[in-house]
Amino acid sequence: MPKLEVLEKYAKLAVEVGANVQKGQFVVVGSSTETKELARLIVKAAYKAGAKKVEVQWSDDYVARAGYDSMSIDTLKEIPEWSIDKAKYFIEENGCTIRITSPIPGLNAGVDPKKMQAAGIARMKSFKFYQDHMMGNHAQWSIVAAPNMVWAKKVFPDLSDDDAFEALWDAILEASRVTETNDPIEEWANHNKSMLAHNKVLNDYNFDTLHFTNSLGTDLHVKLVENHVWAGGGENSTKGVYFNPNIPTEENFTMPHKFGVNGKVVSTKPLNYQGNLVEDFWLEFKDGKVVDFDAAKNKETLKSLLDTDEGSRHLGEVALISYDSPISNSNILFLNTLFDENASCHLALGKAYPMNVKGGTKMTDEELLKANSNQSMVHVDFMFGNEDLQVEGILHDGSKVSIFVDGDFVI
Ligand code: ZN
Ligand code: ZN
Repeated sequence: MPKLEVLEKYAKLAVEVGANVQKGQFVVVGSSTETKELARLIVKAAYKAGAKKVEVQWSDDYVARAGYDSMSIDTLKEIPEWSIDKAKYFIEENGCTIRITSPIPGLNAGVDPKKMQAAGIARMKSFKFYQDHMMGNHAQWSIVAAPNMVWAKKVFPDLSDDDAFEALWDAILEASRVTETNDPIEEWANHNKSMLAHNKVLNDYNFDTLHFTNSLGTDLHVKLVENHVWAGGGENSTKGVYFNPNIPTEENFTMPHKFGVNGKVVSTKPLNYQGNLVEDFWLEFKDGKVVDFDAAKNKETLKSLLDTDEGSRHLGEVALISYDSPISNSNILFLNTLFDENASCHLALGKAYPMNVKGGTKMTDEELLKANSNQSMVHVDFMFGNEDLQVEGILHDGSKVSIFVDGDFVI
């Protein structure tokens, strides 16, 4: 484990910059049993910041795996009323959320994908109101990461258990801008400033379409919705509290037109979905919809993701990150979207963030759909940036602006 003072800084960052816990606020911390040390420090930091009450939602992926093995599909689909009531209670209490992500890659290998899909759909349907609440920024939320041994060994297979664990902690802290000597709160104030400057440039152009090409075979036109908003860095909740949904974050992102995506995109990093790694895959879009796809590994997992619902074959996000950027330069494949998506241009299948269209957080589902904003129970990012990615912005008058040359921002 890193030094206690460093972990305390990280916990403070999650509380004060991530969720920006307000005095007297209710706080929900989501943690697996693998990350209990960090969860305890976050709880302490939240009380120190003035939280009224901190509730920890513990989970354990091994327990979940045992359930997938032994429960029937019908039982897996049962969502008890009390768990829904609990989520409603969190909303009523204006709870903000800090989730510690610590995936265990490969843990669900061999589970019947139908079981995982059925359980996932039942859960997502029942908790749609909660996802809408969070994705609509009605309360502050933030995701940070902490390692577990299996994950660490997957990222650093050549190191001993202890060294791998240590190395993953170091990589997470470094990517999150937490060091022994710095003040992460100040670092993040500066980082947010530069992210906002980039959003402004992109918003001022008001592109009609982005055109992506590279040597791997990506040739994709992504039309943006009218009145789209580029976001990245900190955001405001609808109650006016500034927070950072992701620690770390390096992306500037906006909303694709649900029916305006055409061409082919080739992935450049594996996708860890429901504990399975989908590798070397591509998707082909026509009028916004995935009409063809393939994967060298775990194609079934990709198929079950695409078949989740009507919106899971359409895009909900397009994000730009320079190839020459801190997490990308670390050259570490984290096998975790929170990090890998910040090392590479990416797209997300599924639900769009309402804030990526003007007035979106106040729109109903119908109004969002009218604005060509995709709706789905899922939001799954996948990476396609590489060192020779070219991005051209096409303006409404048809003229073109180079946004990326050879993998990096040029505007
Ligand atoms: Zn993103
Ligand atoms: Zn995303």
